[in-house]
Amino acid sequence: MNTIYLDNSATTQTDAEVIKTMLPYMTTAYGNPSSVYQLGRETRKAVEEAREQVAKALGCEPNEIYFTSGGSESDNTAIRGIAYGYQTKGNHIITSKIEHPAVLETCKQLEKEGFEVSYIDVNENGMINLEELKSAIKPTTTLISIMFANNEIGTIQPMKQIGTIARENHIYFHTDAVQAVGNVKIDVKKMNIDSLSLSAHKFYGPKGIGALYVKKGIQFNPIICGGHQEKNKRAGTENVAGIVGLGKAIELVNQKLEEHITKVKELRDYYEKQVLENIPNIKINGDTENRLPGNSNISFQGVQGDSLLLNLDFKGICASSRKCLYFWFARSFSCIVSNWSTTRNST
Ligand SMILES: *Cc1c(COP(=O)(O)O)cnc(C)c1O
Repeated sequence: MNTIYLDNSATTQTDAEVIKTMLPYMTTAYGNPSSVYQLGRETRKAVEEAREQVAKALGCEPNEIYFTSGGSESDNTAIRGIAYGYQTKGNHIITSKIEHPAVLETCKQLEKEGFEVSYIDVNENGMINLEELKSAIKPTTTLISIMFANNEIGTIQPMKQIGTIARENHIYFHTDAVQAVGNVKIDVKKMNIDSLSLSAHKFYGPKGIGALYVKKGIQFNPIICGGHQEKNKRAGTENVAGIVGLGKAIELVNQKLEEHITKVKELRDYYEKQVLENIPNIKINGDTENRLPGNSNISFQGVQGDSLLLNLDFKGICASSRKCLYFWFARSFSCIVSNWSTTRNST
């Protein structure tokens, strides 16, 4: 039976070309990038090349990129780091109700430590309201953290407008762009983004490696302390193979971005049309305009999400079901989330 993989929001298949690029760094090129001899200089060079690849994809400078263990660590570092870095200025953070747990749980922890957090709402399509954002701002607000694109409903938030509101009010703007990289054109400078998280395994790279962009000049306290790696902001010997894989993966997705968007959108739209025509009592969720090209979130009335998933699994189809607590449609429906992809490898 063929596997039909529709769960690219959960993770993606690693690109064969990415693996090929990583292999030397798991075999012959094993030097520690901090070492001065040739074997170390070789891996240092590879890490710095990957940093340039990431910077190019985001429209920033290489020295604004820090490598981490993934999206979760990048979110934790940015939010905690900036909250503590500017604690003398204020203790208020604004985020949304539909953030990934990496953001929400960090905010909840910070609340226990004395920070104040406002969680702004979204409409039925998962869009935040800019007026609500503006009115949540206080003199003590130091950070706004709003995700670029949602992992369940696919909604893409208006980054530039949020960034502009933040900048006008002298507040830092962090975004969890883990779902956006490889699916949306990103330019952190044009979008007034001060800090951004990404994770390689969401765009055909390896798992357990991510990056954090932080605009030059922003103070942020490290959460992992130790050696002097990553400009004293993230201690620990670099995951060289992972970093090289991340660099290659982001370069590849950016090269084919337009093509990928057109292709997955076509597949997604065809799928939704077929489901609409053939299955009664369903609702397609999410914003029709500002939605990830491959994302599809469908509510099936009176059907248990888990049993639907099990039946799909019998047919070799991988998708996710969510009890979307934040969204109105969760109250009476269960929804199936799938995310289309362009086939990368010939498997
Ligand atoms: C997957 C995901 C994360 C977590 O990334 P990891 O690399 O798995 O830690 C964070 N935010 C969003 C929106 C995600 O989809």
